[in-house]
Amino acid sequence: MQERQTKQKQIIYEALQTLDHPTATEVYGWVHNVCPTVSRATVFRVLGGFAASGRALELRVAGNEVRYDYNTMPHYHAHCRMCGRLADVGVKGFSEETFAAMAACGFEVEGYSIEFFGLCADCKKEMGQA
Ligand SMILES: [Zn+2]
Ligand SMILES: [Zn+2]
Repeated sequence: MQERQTKQKQIIYEALQTLDHPTATEVYGWVHNVCPTVSRATVFRVLGGFAASGRALELRVAGNEVRYDYNTMPHYHAHCRMCGRLADVGVKGFSEETFAAMAACGFEVEGYSIEFFGLCADCKKEMGQA
């Protein structure tokens, strides 16, 4: 029983790595193809567990379903307003000054998520053709 749970977790984690910032529903779709016996409830529970234990990030994008990210290092996201896709932006985080300023306000920063809004390359192409 324990072993089966571990296996399910592995598959779900693999889905996170394979899919790019998927929603729980997308993870379920992928996992279901690989292993049809894994239930939707299990996928949701395991994803919640990953988020709680810090193995994955839960990304709450305004107006969208929660997305999951196995990359737990603080990083920026580019959010396409057309298709809702999230992509990692390869830029480094804030300067030390930013954190110093936060600390000066007595605020302890535990992490951050920055989101850029716009159009992804695919959607831009589609817009251009329309
Ligand atoms: Zn797009
Ligand atoms: Zn990301």
